[in-house]
Amino acid sequence: MTRAWVKALVMIFGLATAARADGLKAGAFAMDVTPKRFPISVNGGMADVQARGANDRLHARCLVLDDGTTTIAIVVVDSCMLPRELVEVAKARASKLTGIPSDHMLVSATHTHSAPTVTGVFQSEPDADYVKYLPGRIADGIKEAHDRRVATRVGFGRAKDETQVFNRRWKREQGLIPPDPFGNTTDKVQMNPGNQAKGLIESAGPVDPELCLVSILTRAGKPLALLANYSLHYVGGNPPLSADYFGAFAERVEQLIAPDAKDFVGIMSNGTSGDVNNINFGTPAVKYGPGERIKVVAESVAKKTAEAYQKIEYRDNVRLAAAVKDLELGVRKPTEKDLERARKILDENKDKKVLVGTAAIYARESELLAKYPDTVPVKLQALRIGDIGIAAIPCEVFTEIGLEIKRSSPLKDTFTIELANGYNGYLPTPAQHALGGYETWRARSSYLEVEAATKIVAAVKELLTGVAK
Ligand SMILES: [Zn+2]
Repeated sequence: MTRAWVKALVMIFGLATAARADGLKAGAFAMDVTPKRFPISVNGGMADVQARGANDRLHARCLVLDDGTTTIAIVVVDSCMLPRELVEVAKARASKLTGIPSDHMLVSATHTHSAPTVTGVFQSEPDADYVKYLPGRIADGIKEAHDRRVATRVGFGRAKDETQVFNRRWKREQGLIPPDPFGNTTDKVQMNPGNQAKGLIESAGPVDPELCLVSILTRAGKPLALLANYSLHYVGGNPPLSADYFGAFAERVEQLIAPDAKDFVGIMSNGTSGDVNNINFGTPAVKYGPGERIKVVAESVAKKTAEAYQKIEYRDNVRLAAAVKDLELGVRKPTEKDLERARKILDENKDKKVLVGTAAIYARESELLAKYPDTVPVKLQALRIGDIGIAAIPCEVFTEIGLEIKRSSPLKDTFTIELANGYNGYLPTPAQHALGGYETWRARSSYLEVEAATKIVAAVKELLTGVAK
């Protein structure tokens, strides 16, 4: 087909591909995904934890948007990380139930560290029953949101909460940084070094205090859903199971902005927080009781959200688009010499049921990583909601990468949802790799090639440019 022909066809079908005449439709639903059987494995630490009950409920918070031509779904699950296989089972089922193409669905994990294990990480193994249960619940949640579609309006808002995000990687006098798990003393930064630890120089990266808000109202002006995005790893402090501050935010924001709305769904998605948590190591430690810190953070972020919410302007008619790309990236695999050392350490620890200390734990990780393929596909995605761009990356993404995507996106209001559509470990920049530290240590939690961030940012920019057209 010639270019002129393509142009003519675009003109003919222009109306069909533009926003629908009767405007945007949307539906939202929070599906309970709390397991029914206890005890259950909880991952998030280097040793496994067993939960004996649920402190608060876990949800898959689902949002479906439909412009008459294109339908997209965004789901944020109270989970630490979701493996690609699980997400794909959920999407395939949801696609059968709703007709929404799998590539138009974004399914991410909040990164709560107090949810059932669904992917093997450190000494936690996936709970087979829950791995079977979760995809069906996610799919049913998408169907419920799809069934509930009504005529809506959408708006974008932004706020800042500088009080709750701190870069957790600190430059420190090198002699004071403990050796890495592989016996090297080359790390120039330390994660979570301790409050006012001796020899702290400065944190090794920026924070992104921005709160991005996608607000959906019914055509009558009633709040239907709010998708928020903030770059904070998690908070912690609740006994498992718990949805952490992500759940507390959803509850609090509903009280603040939609106290009378029935079936309102508040959603907090994780931005790019691979190196950012809630502790300022430059100041003395603050003591909190169980669950207290989560409430403090949720209150602060929800209040800032509610202030910005009042100023949001809405449109009835926006265009939706989605694009995905699989990027094949190298795996940092252990060398034969690394494996020799690992085998020796594991041999010394062979009677231990639970490995203690990073040397032994990372020796086991080396053996497991040796079985990985040399390259893995990394699924990247871009969604467009009018002038809003959402990038999705299946990693724990360093904050500076998210800032770069916001800066360079062709869409006016762009943010990134991390740990989306799969799990491929930490994503530091090449410069942060050179500084070393926990997030770069080779394990199933950090294994992509050193140049991964550069390649991923370039691919995400291309995807955003594609959906912005
Ligand atoms: Zn993490």
